[in-house]
Amino acid sequence: MNQPLKQHLIDPEICIRCYTCEMTCPVGAITHDDNNVVVDAANCNFCMDCIPVCPTGSIDEWRVVTVPYSLEEQFSWAELPVQQDVGSESEQIEALDEVMAALLADAHKGAGGKAKAPASAAKPSVNLYNIGKPAIAKVQGSYRLTSEDSGTEVRHIILDFGAQPFPVLEGQSIGIIPPGVGADGKPHLPRLYSVSSPRDGERPNYNNIALTVKREEHGTCSNYVCNLRKGDEVSVAGPFGATFLMPDDPSARLLMICTGTGSAPFRAFTMRRQRMAASSGDMMIFFGARTPDSLPYFGPLNKVPERLLKKHLVFSRLPGAEKEYVQDRMMAEQEAITELLADPDTHIYICGLRGMEEGVERAFSQIAEGIGEHWETMRDAMRVAGRYHVETY
Ligand code: NAP
Repeated sequence: MNQPLKQHLIDPEICIRCYTCEMTCPVGAITHDDNNVVVDAANCNFCMDCIPVCPTGSIDEWRVVTVPYSLEEQFSWAELPVQQDVGSESEQIEALDEVMAALLADAHKGAGGKAKAPASAAKPSVNLYNIGKPAIAKVQGSYRLTSEDSGTEVRHIILDFGAQPFPVLEGQSIGIIPPGVGADGKPHLPRLYSVSSPRDGERPNYNNIALTVKREEHGTCSNYVCNLRKGDEVSVAGPFGATFLMPDDPSARLLMICTGTGSAPFRAFTMRRQRMAASSGDMMIFFGARTPDSLPYFGPLNKVPERLLKKHLVFSRLPGAEKEYVQDRMMAEQEAITELLADPDTHIYICGLRGMEEGVERAFSQIAEGIGEHWETMRDAMRVAGRYHVETY
């Protein structure tokens, strides 16, 4: 029997037959007759180039099938067929694909438009493992990063994939599948965590990765992950994400803004740059936490030389000090940020709490205004060039 697969379709009831998708498709998978515009399942490579150019949204239709609909069938349609029942495992795979894609798309929406990878980023591997066929990783270690009395438990967890290929790039996420079922009786869907180690492994040239996870009071997955101990086995989906990646161009300059565990991908970026033999462009980080002892990796971070990484560690609940957020420090450092904004080699990354977006955007707007620029125009141009990235939850 054929394996279920996801087929790209176009909704004939909504399509206005402008043929923009057909002209855009780089592999010639879209065609038409007098009746409909259709997608050839044998050619479509899911590159998604056709999705943003469609003026109606009719292009964004998907069905899980065991046998793909032929061109002749699609030409004859007046409306899309309903989703066939293709068995519970494929339904789970479809649900996983859609949930993971939707979660990441939602996390990236603060960029103000379609996210794009840096031009020099390496090509990521995605969706190698899923809920039906997870990778099984072994816990190599779990270490508390925050002090016992900080009130925040953030852990550094190292997962080893043994002989299973699990290639990741800095900035990608993986899905941890907690065991058991939810209140609805269905197996838990994976929860996304950013990989906080570089592409060549937490330990160089080992097939292992690190995660940075905060224990949430009622969090099913965060408690599961934070309770894992050395030797435990974990089901992992992914890798996920093809846009929140670092430039491979060593001269690129990175401006990174994060809160709490949103620092995970920036640890990976920094370690990648530290391990690169050639001298690389400078990096600047604005990193917000409540106190130094609740700031993940406070000690190791302070050891990274300032010439590689200019650090602005910002604390919101330091006894005896005024509350300070990352956006406040950005305003205090507006000269340095202005200089970075003017440089076409600068890439901006924002990661962490969704609530920070508004303040960070406001800071960028004020800094841009100060040099007679319109921030949204600048930001959109940077995003289109793959130089502006947001991942917030
Ligand atoms: P947190 O400890 O709750 O907060 C970190 C700091 O951000 C605190 O100083 C907090 O100040 C401050 N903050 C709160 N509201 C803010 C605002 N509007 N603007 C600027 N700063 C603000 O952070 P967390 O729980 O670690 O959360 C990090 C976020 O990153 C989560 O949403 C998580 O999902 C996301 N994330 C995690 C990963 C991962 O791999 N684990 C990866 C990517 C993103 P006060 O509390 O004093 O107000």
